[in-house]
Amino acid sequence: MDVILVVNAGSSSLKFEVFSVEGGLSKLLKGQMEGVGTAPRLRIKGTGSEMLADHQHSPSEVPDLPAAMRLVGDWLRERHQDRLVAVGHRVVHGGPDYDRAVLIDKTVLADLESYVPLAPLHQPNNLAPIRAIRQRRPDLPQVACFDTSFHRGHSAVADHYAIPERFYAEGVRRYGFHGLSYEYVANRLRELAPEIAGGRIVVAHLGSGASMCALLGGHSVESTFGFTALDGLPMGTRCGQIDPGVILYLLDQKGMKPDGVRDLLYKESGLMGLSGVSNDVRALLESLQSSAAFALEHFVHRIGLHAGMLAAALGGIDAFVFTAGIGENSPEMRKRIVAKLEWLGAKLDPERNAKGDLLISTPDSRLRVYVVPTDEELMIARHTLATTRT
Ligand code: AMP
Repeated sequence: MDVILVVNAGSSSLKFEVFSVEGGLSKLLKGQMEGVGTAPRLRIKGTGSEMLADHQHSPSEVPDLPAAMRLVGDWLRERHQDRLVAVGHRVVHGGPDYDRAVLIDKTVLADLESYVPLAPLHQPNNLAPIRAIRQRRPDLPQVACFDTSFHRGHSAVADHYAIPERFYAEGVRRYGFHGLSYEYVANRLRELAPEIAGGRIVVAHLGSGASMCALLGGHSVESTFGFTALDGLPMGTRCGQIDPGVILYLLDQKGMKPDGVRDLLYKESGLMGLSGVSNDVRALLESLQSSAAFALEHFVHRIGLHAGMLAAALGGIDAFVFTAGIGENSPEMRKRIVAKLEWLGAKLDPERNAKGDLLISTPDSRLRVYVVPTDEELMIARHTLATTRT
């Protein structure tokens, strides 16, 4: 059987899925190597969630992502007689030029490396497994699928910051991220709700990273993310939109170093920073501490503000879509967020919301509200198949 491997590499974890390509793409297994370099653990599940592997490894066996990639490759080769025909990678940054997935060769890889300064925390992790596979299997087609591509059609007005133009020319732009998720949701809406899919839609990807995207006719026209995945909504541990003056204050008045500011904004802020309790919405909903309730209130407030902003970008709004961990799984958070959208005509159907139906607004709601589970890995597998077959 011909299969595609999808790889999503983070700072200390490597997630992967295997898809059969026979008769359309279907998921065969998903796995994750966590704790790379510290306490590596490889877990692999089949489609029915049955555990296929659960191995602890020593940090010396899996010191870095290339080693993790090799170990995963070994496991797949030993257990499966399938023919690996291509590997698709999630790559956070495609810079100003890559507006679609691309087959990786030497030139592309050099381009992607040149974008490291634009995403220094993520891009190197995404590129490490690509290089490891190229070393072992130089002939195996590898495809880069970007979080930025779906947003590359934004207008110049939306894409700019009001700073001197030379910075735009060198790549300081409002790129937008979570593009693979939004592209999947836009496609899925065409299947599930064709009557609305061509309209003015705001999609809220609410997971440990959180952002919102304005879709017009199925295309992205605005995003709450900007130059980096720090902007827009507050997230699990990231600050979201912040006055740049705060950063100047931290550097000038508090004497913080850039590394310290970076850690503060990426790892110690958001729901975690505000609550002092957790970055996980489940824990915050259960907590009796007032700071936990406050963090959630702030999160919902900011989603409401950004929904207004994106509705303005669209010149109105026909539908609001929830997706990702919080959006798909928390009726309580959806209820609180929809309450902020009442002025836009949203009316929640509590029973449909509790069940997590596709449509969770009432029949007379002027704004339709949907829940559409995302699948970034399937989107990557589709791009990988399409790119290697053309
Ligand atoms: P993701 O990044 O899309 O995997 O989403 C992960 C986040 O979703 C977690 O950090 C949780 O905050 C949130 N989450 C997952 N399940 C639930 C749930 N049942 N209720 C509230 N939040 C949830």
